[in-house]
Amino acid sequence: MQDTRAELLHWYGRHARVLPWRARAGERPDPYRVWLSEIMLQQTTVQAVKDYFLAFTARWPDVMALADAREQEVLSQWAGLGYYSRARNLHKAAKEIAVRGGTFPETPEGLAKLPGIGPYTAAAIAAIAFDFPIVPLDGNIERVTARVFAIEDPLPGSKPLLREKAQAFSGNDRPGCVAQALMDLGATVCTPKNPACARCPLNGECLGFRHGIAASLPVKAGRKDRPTRRGVAFVAVKPDGSMLVRSRPSKGLLGGMSEVPGSTWTEGFDLSGALAHAPIDAKWKRLPGEVRHVFTHFALELVVYIAKVPANAETPQGMRWVSPERMPEEAFPSVMMKVLTHADVI
Ligand code: SF4
Repeated sequence: MQDTRAELLHWYGRHARVLPWRARAGERPDPYRVWLSEIMLQQTTVQAVKDYFLAFTARWPDVMALADAREQEVLSQWAGLGYYSRARNLHKAAKEIAVRGGTFPETPEGLAKLPGIGPYTAAAIAAIAFDFPIVPLDGNIERVTARVFAIEDPLPGSKPLLREKAQAFSGNDRPGCVAQALMDLGATVCTPKNPACARCPLNGECLGFRHGIAASLPVKAGRKDRPTRRGVAFVAVKPDGSMLVRSRPSKGLLGGMSEVPGSTWTEGFDLSGALAHAPIDAKWKRLPGEVRHVFTHFALELVVYIAKVPANAETPQGMRWVSPERMPEEAFPSVMMKVLTHADVI
C-alpha cells in the first residue's frame, strides 16, 4: 500500500479541491475550521455548505467567539442547513472547548466525547486537523474502498468491513492529506455513476476496475419508501405585519426552531378537522395548493390557512407576535420558510 499512498498523495498535490475550510499548502489546519466544516457537511453537500461556512467564520472566527454566542443566534445563522440538533450540539461543544481554554482534543476518542461528534466525525477531525493515522469512512471513501477491494456485500451491512479495509490506506505519512485525497478522489474521479478509471491514481491496484465491476459498487440494499405525513399551518397577521410564532420543543425534530402554529404532522391527518387546530378565533382562509417538504424519514404535506387579525388579537400561551423587523432573528427552518413564502408574507 505504500506505493498506492504515494501515488494518491502525488495526485492530491496536483488535484486537491480548493475549499474554504482547507489549510493552504504549508499552513497547519485550524481545528476550529475543520470541526465546523465536518459538522456542517454531515448529511449535506460541499456546495450547500460553503456559504454557511463563510458566514459562520466571518461572524464567529474562532471557537471562543462561537461559545460566547446565544443559542438562538447560532440556530438562526444555521437556518436552512437542516438537522438543527447539529447546531445546538455545535454550540454546546464550543462551550466545552472554551472551558478547555479553546484547545480541541487531538484523538478520535477524545473528540468523540464532545456533543455532536460521532465516530466518523471524530476520525475525520483527528486525521485532518491533527494528522492522526486513521481513515474516516464518508460516502466518498466508502465508494473508493468498495471498488479498490471489490467488496460486493451490500450496504449498510458491509460498513464495518469497509471501515476496516479503508484503514489499509492509512499510515504515518501525512494521514490528513491521505484522508482528504480519498475524499477528493471519490468526489471528482471515482464518482458514483461513471468512475474515470483511466485518470485514477489507484487504477493499478483497483480490483473493481480490474474485474470490470467498479460502476456497480458499492451495492446498496433496497431502501424503503418514505411515508407521507400531513398537517396544517396557520399564518395570523396583524395590520402592522406582526405574525404569530412559537418555538418548537427543544428536543426532537427541528428542536428549538421557530414555526407558525399548527397541528402535529401525522400520516392519518384528517383535513376536515383542520380548523380545530387554529391558535385563535379568526376568519381563516385556506390557501390553494400545499407546501411539500422532504425530511430524511418522511415527506410532509402542509395545508396553509391565513387570517388578517386586529391589532389587539390575543396572544395564546407559549406564542408571541413578531414584528416584520424582528423576523430575520427568528430561526425558521426551511419547511417554515416555504410556508411563509406560500402565504406571501415574507
Ligand atoms: Fe475508482 Fe476506477 Fe479509481 Fe478504482 S480505478 S478507485 S473504480 S476511479
